[in-house]
Amino acid sequence: MNLEELIRDVPDFPKAGIVFKDITPLLANSEALVYCADRLAQLCPIDVKIDKVIGIEARGFILGGMIAQRLGAGFIPVRKKGKLPSAVISKSYGLEYGEDVLEIHKDAIKPGDTVLIHDDVLATGGTANAACELVEKLGGNIVQCNFIMELGFLNGKKKLNYKVASLLGY
Ligand code: IMP
Repeated sequence: MNLEELIRDVPDFPKAGIVFKDITPLLANSEALVYCADRLAQLCPIDVKIDKVIGIEARGFILGGMIAQRLGAGFIPVRKKGKLPSAVISKSYGLEYGEDVLEIHKDAIKPGDTVLIHDDVLATGGTANAACELVEKLGGNIVQCNFIMELGFLNGKKKLNYKVASLLGY
């Protein structure tokens, strides 16, 4: 399946000079959606039973849930500040300009849980790394971070201390 033709380049979004990789055409294609979920689940190490799949707000929720279903794992949302209703721990992380905060429910991960982190795109790695730090704080064991797409020229992989898998690289 040619996934690349389902990724739309949007110039100057969210700001001038950035070419945004828009995955909505891929999500809109039922075969591609199932294919991505199947492949990402297959890329997980087969010798470890994954307890929890983390999806990062918001596009990480879509395939994150589908991967969790395939692995027989639970799904845990990592969300932007103020969105989760119960007690949370927080992690702020740097953006190109300013910073943002990610949160996870304190009771979402039990110490020793095996965890897969999923998001749609790995760019500089700041977002995924913040999610990893939240999981580490709760005592989870991260098995892999996986993505639909990796923007290799931004070297995000270097920020992550875990195995990284993705379906597409740019
Ligand atoms: P990072 O923290 O720089 O790795 O950025 C990754 C986060 O920004 C992810 O949550 C992505 O959803 C989002 N992101 C960054 N660049 C793109 C893009 O080109 N397309 C879609 N999402 C992106």
